[in-house]
Amino acid sequence: MCDSPTMTATDPRTLLASVFGFDAFRPGQEEIVEAVCAGRDVLAIMPTGGGKSLCFQLPALVRDGLTVVISPLIALMRDQVRALQEAGVSAGALTSGNTEEETAQVRQAITEGRLKLLYIAPERLASTATERMLRRADTRLIAVDEAHCVSQWGHDFRPDYLRIGELRRTLGVPLAAFTATADAETRAEIATRLFDAPPQVFLHGFDRPNIALSFQPKDGPRRQVLSFAAARKGQSGIVYCGTRAKTESLARALREDGHSACHYHGGMDAGDRREVERRFQQEDGLIVVATVAFGMGIDKPDIRWVAHADLPKSIEAYYQEIGRAGRDGAPADTLTLFGADDIRYRRQQIDEGLAPAGMKGADHGRLNALLGLAEAQKCRRQTLLAYFGENTAPCGNCDLCESPPDLFDATTEVRMALSAILRTEERFGTGHLIDVLTGTDTDKTRRFGHDALPTWGVGRGTARPRWQAIFRQMMGLDLVRPDAERHGALRMTDPARPILRGEASVTLRRDSVARTERRPAVKQ
Ligand code: ADP
Ligand code: ZN
Repeated sequence: MCDSPTMTATDPRTLLASVFGFDAFRPGQEEIVEAVCAGRDVLAIMPTGGGKSLCFQLPALVRDGLTVVISPLIALMRDQVRALQEAGVSAGALTSGNTEEETAQVRQAITEGRLKLLYIAPERLASTATERMLRRADTRLIAVDEAHCVSQWGHDFRPDYLRIGELRRTLGVPLAAFTATADAETRAEIATRLFDAPPQVFLHGFDRPNIALSFQPKDGPRRQVLSFAAARKGQSGIVYCGTRAKTESLARALREDGHSACHYHGGMDAGDRREVERRFQQEDGLIVVATVAFGMGIDKPDIRWVAHADLPKSIEAYYQEIGRAGRDGAPADTLTLFGADDIRYRRQQIDEGLAPAGMKGADHGRLNALLGLAEAQKCRRQTLLAYFGENTAPCGNCDLCESPPDLFDATTEVRMALSAILRTEERFGTGHLIDVLTGTDTDKTRRFGHDALPTWGVGRGTARPRWQAIFRQMMGLDLVRPDAERHGALRMTDPARPILRGEASVTLRRDSVARTERRPAVKQ
């Protein structure tokens, strides 16, 4: 699945993955990164949690020389410096919280021209020594976090922020300012106090209201994709698949259904890939069935739909991929399929990856966010935008707004399932656990003596497909996790403990419960 074209070591996308460990830009980040890399003055307004720091950290690595970051929050600066150092980036801070040794190390790194990012507290700007130091250090960019602190009318005013404009002028370097405060007056004040000429302003909500959102549990996934495409015949669309082989077989099936369709993946030679890109750009109504290698650099405004035949890797990747639809602002449709096998596959991919433990934890978190969206119980857009820091009303343009899901209290079933997992010592996968719960006699149940367990047959009243959906939703809620080292045996997670103890309840969706997963989802 490492299906992406080769790029140079200072390419922003390469650094995004190799240094920061992210598989996709968040909404808004890429445009800002490009502008800052190009040396333009920038004022960017992004909601809290939207990912502002990447927008100056990444350009700092692409550009020559030192980037100075001015931030009022010492604890936050120290966190960022630590994270950057762990990622192998030469970064340091000069704050009142430093030990003498730390300060000496930072100064040494500056003298040797090694430092890429220097965080300083605004108080430091009051001293002329700081300005001299920044000059000597070959400063090429100033980044200002919490830029609204320059506004005298705001509640966070920091007098020292008024010195930043002067510093920019004496150093003669571009400046990138970031804030989450978006009101027009504050914006205008930031612009006049920090810049001589109007900066390039980035102020987007993350929402793409013309893109309809929908998810479905896999239930004959090929048929689901074919029927989605059949309802949109003659429109340009993309189907994303988890494997190269599947792109070829699905493209064939679409052609047999009378569509104009072709496949695209990183294993094809460059000429063939360029040909598909050219056709997609020029022809009306072509469907490209592709791995994630397709899309970068595709600039087609009228892609009318995007379908995911397999679950993407993270919520960021999902957003980026569906975001290729409807750039012209006209209505566009999306459908994402997911199943228990996808969840198992994605977890395994993270566990078996080469990333350090801390990063794996974060990757599981981003996958959880996507699973939370897949199993959402209210408006999907609200759930999606809340993840990126934006609060909105129900959208009216997603499957859950259109037909709200039927919920039920699943506490009893979930407790039965958890107890079956524990009684079988967390050593078995969904199929066997359902055999135990429904009291289905097999070689394996007899061999392990599971027919003698107290949980044997306690879930007989619930049909098998329903159990499958309950297990999938439990995985989606991260109550249980497949263990890659034990062939997908399910383990219970900490958040599940209060449920087992009877201290918490669980609500699940009935609609997605009714369906079966018939085929394996993603296989390499
Ligand atoms: P802000 O300063 O806008 O409040 P941060 O820069 O602290 O937000 O980022 C918020 C969180 O989002 C951090 O945990 C960061 O690691 C994560 N993040 C930022 N960009 C991405 C991305 N492209 N993909 C995944 N996670 C990201
Ligand atoms: Zn909605």
